[in-house]
Amino acid sequence: MSKILIIEDETAIADLERDYLEINDYEVFIENDGTKGLEAALGDDYDLIILDLMLPGVDGYEICKRIREEKNIPILMVSAKKDDIDKVRGLGLGADDYMTKPFSPSELVARVKAHLSRYERLIGSNQKSNDLVEIRGIRIDKTARRVYIDGEEKTFTTKEFDLLTFLAENPNHVFTKEELFREIWDMDSIGDIATVTVHIKKIREKIEFDTAKPQYIETIWGVGYRFKV
Ligand code: CA
Repeated sequence: MSKILIIEDETAIADLERDYLEINDYEVFIENDGTKGLEAALGDDYDLIILDLMLPGVDGYEICKRIREEKNIPILMVSAKKDDIDKVRGLGLGADDYMTKPFSPSELVARVKAHLSRYERLIGSNQKSNDLVEIRGIRIDKTARRVYIDGEEKTFTTKEFDLLTFLAENPNHVFTKEELFREIWDMDSIGDIATVTVHIKKIREKIEFDTAKPQYIETIWGVGYRFKV
């Protein structure tokens, strides 16, 4: 679950943002002043920060600058004044997006989603972790056995999960159906290589935008499958 920090002194706005983000399965933390906000942003691991410009304590300009010195997580800046937004853009502080208040909460959620998936694609290729497999919009948490597609959790059966994880961990390698069957199903399993085909189909329905044109698991005709990167 992605962690989002909201640094916003207007509690009603912060609460509204939190409610909408939580409905969309994000874990949300709020700081109401700039000093605590900066401390949290630098001290904890968040996946995205929603940063108000005018804050008591340290202001949003300074917070943005300080975060950028240490982290490249997405920063979405918000302000009540359009002029301020223009000014911030001009300063090139390194925020990823800007929104003028008031904005619709669903627009906020859409932008958060877009920035998180872009960021995940960015780090996906060089993240080395035993527990996470991240390839483009897919994030497989092996420890929790959960799968997120563009930030949205999808449910997989045990074998679907094992098969997807195995393919994703061996990208660009072409496996025959026999190899996949041997790898994922134990010897006592009832079934045959047709089981593999059925499972690939089910996985594609969950991860592919268009199952007719798979972007992740590619069929190599006459051979088997491979996970494209
Ligand atoms: Ca404010």
